[in-house]
Amino acid sequence: LTHFGLDFSERACRGYVAEVVAEAKRLNNSVEVDMEAYPYVEPTLRTVVDLHERFGCVRAVIQAYLRRSEADIERLCGLGIPVRLCKGAYKEPASVAFTRKREVNENYRRLAALLLEKGVQPAMATHDERIIADVIRMAGERGVAPDGLEFQMLYGIRRSLQRRLVSEGYRVRLYVPYGVAWYPYFMRRLAERPANLLFLIRNLLRR
Ligand SMILES: Cc1cc2nc3c(=O)[nH]c(=O)nc-3n(C[C@H](O)[C@H](O)[C@H](O)COP(=O)(O)OP(=O)(O)OC[C@H]3O[C@@H](n4cnc5c(N)ncnc54)[C@H](O)[C@@H]3O)c2cc1C
Repeated sequence: LTHFGLDFSERACRGYVAEVVAEAKRLNNSVEVDMEAYPYVEPTLRTVVDLHERFGCVRAVIQAYLRRSEADIERLCGLGIPVRLCKGAYKEPASVAFTRKREVNENYRRLAALLLEKGVQPAMATHDERIIADVIRMAGERGVAPDGLEFQMLYGIRRSLQRRLVSEGYRVRLYVPYGVAWYPYFMRRLAERPANLLFLIRNLLRR
């Protein structure tokens, strides 16, 4: 939402995003509202709840590293708002977030189980194959059919896994950056995972 001016005015930002969501609804489509750093969690969730009430075709994002996320998931599920669960991409203080990888992964599994039990169109955004295997097992134990579960990954990452999930009947949605403002997006992804710079250089040299 910061790309829609959230830092300047929540009201104006909501108005701009509402135009996008209205157009998505007209096209029988939906909009997923990314979650950014901690100070934006409250205004982002407020905006998603408002858009859900007005249009219905929005999905919220919850970050498994945040300590507050279980309560947020309970609330969103109670309101019938679909949720995408990701681990979380920003550097947050221990006062609000789990900082150890193991704790984040444990919380991801706990929140995924909650979403499988109470969520509407649950979506798991991760490339972590162990977590994906656990989510599939938990979904089976809870009687969630493959087409009732969505996995989300970045375009180009873990392609064979993406194909395998599709062949097994799961929904797979890919996060694809597009448009002219590719540079800030690219820099954000590099900051999130500096190892991608090596990945890029290796692939450039291979060509
Ligand atoms: C569809 C989608 C939407 C997202 N939306 C948000 C959001 O709204 N807010 C937010 O805070 N975060 C978001 N994220 C990022 C997320 O929070 C994680 O930072 C990111 O997905 C890495 O975590 P992981 O679950 O893949 O597990 P990790 O344990 O980080 O990674 C597991 C394995 O996947 C591979 N991998 C993971 N990421 C990459 C990459 N970028 N490039 C190459 N290989 C990789 C690596 O081999 C790694 O070993 C999103 C991620 C995805 C896939």
